Amino acid sequence: MNTLEFRQHFRSNVIPARYRPWLHVSFNFTVLSLLPVFFLWQIQSPSFLEWLTLPIFLLLGNFAVFLIHKYLLHRRIPLIAPHTYDIHSKQHHLFYTHEYVEWDSPKDFYILFFPWWTVAGFAVFALPALYFSLSFFLPSNVVWLALSGASLYFLLYETLHWISHLPKQHPLLRLRALRWMRNHHLVHHNPQLMHHYNFNIVYPLSDWLFKTSYKP
Ligand SMILES: [Zn+2]
Ligand SMILES: [Zn+2]
Repeated sequence: MNTLEFRQHFRSNVIPARYRPWLHVSFNFTVLSLLPVFFLWQIQSPSFLEWLTLPIFLLLGNFAVFLIHKYLLHRRIPLIAPHTYDIHSKQHHLFYTHEYVEWDSPKDFYILFFPWWTVAGFAVFALPALYFSLSFFLPSNVVWLALSGASLYFLLYETLHWISHLPKQHPLLRLRALRWMRNHHLVHHNPQLMHHYNFNIVYPLSDWLFKTSYKP
């Protein structure tokens, strides 16, 4: 089955008829924007050193998402595969390839953005788990800034990933950095290369550090 046939099949058989693309996008972006605002609201007269938690967690976010992308979304792990590998490697990557990287209609957002339940799970389970584990040994300002960094990174990921799937002529892609990241992601959508190269979306730090940046 080629990409166009897969798209046709996916639209008719997998995307539910009741799917509301703008509700999905609004949910993901509203939750991911409100989380950092709420966490930053909690901090009280932070010191310069405490503020450093934010950039540190934006760096750790790059590493964490790299690991999740490379080892959970591109390796078939029994039990969790239907929620990880199958959705990413067998749906997102077959629907969007390096030759057909753009969406045709908002319904295609179904397999472009993270499922709403991933964002909900991040807010309801992952962030509280991070909060309680960090609270044992770090001051509260640092904990709130860590949570802000983690949720901000998720928001950046969704945004940059969306930009990477925009048409080439889109005004946002006049920015060189965005164009560069789009090309980086485009290589990752080549079915021959996807399991091995270019796992970063927001900025390519972990790909550089772990030598998974593709060099033709
Ligand atoms: Zn993609
Ligand atoms: Zn991938």
